[in-house]
Amino acid sequence: MQQTVTPMEQLSAPFDFHPRTRIVFGVNAVARVGEIVRELGAKKVLLVTDPGIAAAGHEQHVLQSLAADGVQAVTFDKVRENPTTRCVDDCLATARASGIEAIIGLGGGSSMDTAKGCNFLLTNGGRIQDYWGVGKATKPMLPLVAIPTTAGTGSECQSAALIADEATHQKMACLDPKAAARVAILDPALTLSQPPRVTACTGIDAIAHAVETAVTKKRNPFSLMFSHEAFKLLAPNFSRVVENPNDLEARGKMLLGAAFAGTAIENSMLGAAHSAANPLTAHYDIIHGQAVGMMLPHVIRFNAENKKSTQSYAELASGPEIACVSDGIEHAVDALIQEIRTLLELARIPACLSECGVQEKDLPMLAAEAAKQWTANFNPRPVTEKDFLGLFEAAL
Ligand SMILES: [Zn+2]
Repeated sequence: MQQTVTPMEQLSAPFDFHPRTRIVFGVNAVARVGEIVRELGAKKVLLVTDPGIAAAGHEQHVLQSLAADGVQAVTFDKVRENPTTRCVDDCLATARASGIEAIIGLGGGSSMDTAKGCNFLLTNGGRIQDYWGVGKATKPMLPLVAIPTTAGTGSECQSAALIADEATHQKMACLDPKAAARVAILDPALTLSQPPRVTACTGIDAIAHAVETAVTKKRNPFSLMFSHEAFKLLAPNFSRVVENPNDLEARGKMLLGAAFAGTAIENSMLGAAHSAANPLTAHYDIIHGQAVGMMLPHVIRFNAENKKSTQSYAELASGPEIACVSDGIEHAVDALIQEIRTLLELARIPACLSECGVQEKDLPMLAAEAAKQWTANFNPRPVTEKDFLGLFEAAL
């Protein structure tokens, strides 16, 4: 029997949508960074990036544009993947010594997270642990310009900094509207340098963001618009960038899709696939996008037991014509799961957790940790430790 939910039921969630980030999109848009920083009133900036981005020449592009507009720059190019409190402290030491007036985060999510983490400490003092949670900063922060070089996290459109405790490896989400980038520069040309593995894993992560945000408890008409547009951009263009890394048009659509999905997260949070992925990354070092991707089909199947979610997944699948709602919403959910599996295969993501060294005896521990993740609260169907155990068993 087909399930139906009236549109009003779906769209009745209250929301407070406040765009905080100006978005500048276009090939070679990065050349405008000097002019943009000057508009923000800064004459001296801190450029936060990682050694790979510096080697790819992107750091140089930014520095040239800044110099052309008379902006002085201090560089911190030692960002590490999944940045820790120590990485932020090192960045802070560079920032403190230099009297900067703005910060640029150039790179993947790690560079942007480090830049945001540094901004918290530089302007508000204390340590990262003090900002774990929502709205803990009391003083204004420096203007941040985010320039992503991957199409993945969507951190450029979010007010959260994700920093891990150096000692415990606990990931701390520090959310504050003041931490959001003032400007995001989306230049598809910068994403051409992504290694194939990065393109694959960050692309799957962005797709998972679009899918998870489309069904969360917190979703609303605004966040849904971004989830749907993101999915329409990401799903058909993922195969294009995997098969032809130099396809600039497809790169642009992925970059925009990732930013839209990031905007959706900012307004609707995430769900159980992200809750399940965090312990997999913490214990087995599985790359975030890969871990999320491996759990996503199982989470969709689990959530589809919930009427509203079935309808939402079906509507999401209709955007890029993976399925047509008029053919039946259960059929559309099956088609969505099949499409996700096809994309995972294309990304060369293993089909099951056991291929990544996950052991059956660890599943109860992983389930206990997954159930404690903040994102689990926003999953459309209540998800308990026992449910997570079932999800991990299905994915093993
Ligand atoms: Zn993610």
